[in-house]
Amino acid sequence: MHALWCKHLYPQTAVHLALPCDTRDYTDFYCGIHHASAVGKLFRPNQPLLPNYLHLPIAYHGRSSTLIASGTPCVRPHGQLKSAEQERPFLGPSAKLDFELEIGVMIATPNLNHHPIPIEQAEDHVLGLTLVNDWSARDIQVWEYQPLGPFLAKNFATTVSPWVITLEALAPFRTERMALARSHAPLPYLEHTLADAQVAFEISLSVWMSSIAMRDRGLAPHLIAQTDFSQSAFWSIAQMIAHHTINGCQLSAGDLLATGTLSGPLPGQTGSLIELTQDGRAPFGLPDGSPRTFLEDGDQVRFQGRCDRAGFRSIGFGVCEGEISPARTDILRKH
Ligand code: CA
Repeated sequence: MHALWCKHLYPQTAVHLALPCDTRDYTDFYCGIHHASAVGKLFRPNQPLLPNYLHLPIAYHGRSSTLIASGTPCVRPHGQLKSAEQERPFLGPSAKLDFELEIGVMIATPNLNHHPIPIEQAEDHVLGLTLVNDWSARDIQVWEYQPLGPFLAKNFATTVSPWVITLEALAPFRTERMALARSHAPLPYLEHTLADAQVAFEISLSVWMSSIAMRDRGLAPHLIAQTDFSQSAFWSIAQMIAHHTINGCQLSAGDLLATGTLSGPLPGQTGSLIELTQDGRAPFGLPDGSPRTFLEDGDQVRFQGRCDRAGFRSIGFGVCEGEISPARTDILRKH
C-alpha cells in the first residue's frame, strides 16, 4: 500500500534529476592519449603529441557556473569565428559544434591549502565517477586557443550525469592501464603505489546520436562510438589528483575533475566528431540519410557507461544526454 502511495505521488517519469552536487571548481584534463594524438595530428602532423604530454596530466580550469544536468538543452553558442582565408574575425553562431565523451571524478574530501595529496591517498578524496559531455565549439576554439588554451569554445555548457558511482562499487572492475602507460616511468610523485592491475577501471562507454528526422520517423538512436575508459586514458584518476595538488592547490568537496575525451585507437572508438570527421573533411551518414560533420540544431547526443564482469553485478552509469537548441540570435545586440 505504501509503495502504491509513493508511486502515485512520484511517478518516475515526472522526476527531473539535477546536478549531483554543488560544484565550486571544475577542471578538465586531457588524459585520452588517442584523442590527443588524433586531434594533434590534424593540426600538427609532424608532432601530434607535445613534449610535455607523457610527463604530466595536461588540464585547464573550466567554469562550474555552466555545468548543466543531463537532459538540459545545449544552446548553440556565438563567438568569434575566422577561417584561414579571412582577414578579420566576425561574430556568429558556431558551425562546428561538437561533443566530448568524458568521465567526471567528483571530489568528496578536500585537502588543506598548500598540502598536496600524495598519490597513494588520492583515491581517498574521491566520491565517485560520473559521465560528462564537454560540448566544444571547434571553430571558436581554433581561433582563440593560442596561447592560453580553451576559453569561450568550452565554457558555454558542460553536461553532467546525475548519477555518481562510488569507487567502492567499482572495485570489481579495476584493471590495469593501457600498455603504453604501464611502460612509462613518470616523476616519482606520479608513480603509483597500487598494483598495476588495480590502477584503472574497466568501464564501457558509448555515444549515441539522433536527429529530428530520425525521431520523426521512429528510428532508434544511432551508435556513433564505443570505447573503454581503461584503454583510452593514459593518466589515471590518482595521477590527476596528485598532479592537480602538487603545487598546493586546494580541492573542495563537490569539485569536478573531468578526464578529457576518451577515444580508443580504432575507427568506431572516437569520443568526438572532430576525430570522426577529420575536422569536417569526412562526413558520416545518419540512419535518416542525412550527412553530418558537426552537430546540427535538434540533434540529441547521449552517453552511456556500463561495467560488466562475470561473477559480479553489472553497474550502469545512467545517461548523460542533451539536445542542441538553436543559437539565441534574439538576445544579441547588433555588434
Ligand atoms: Ca574536454
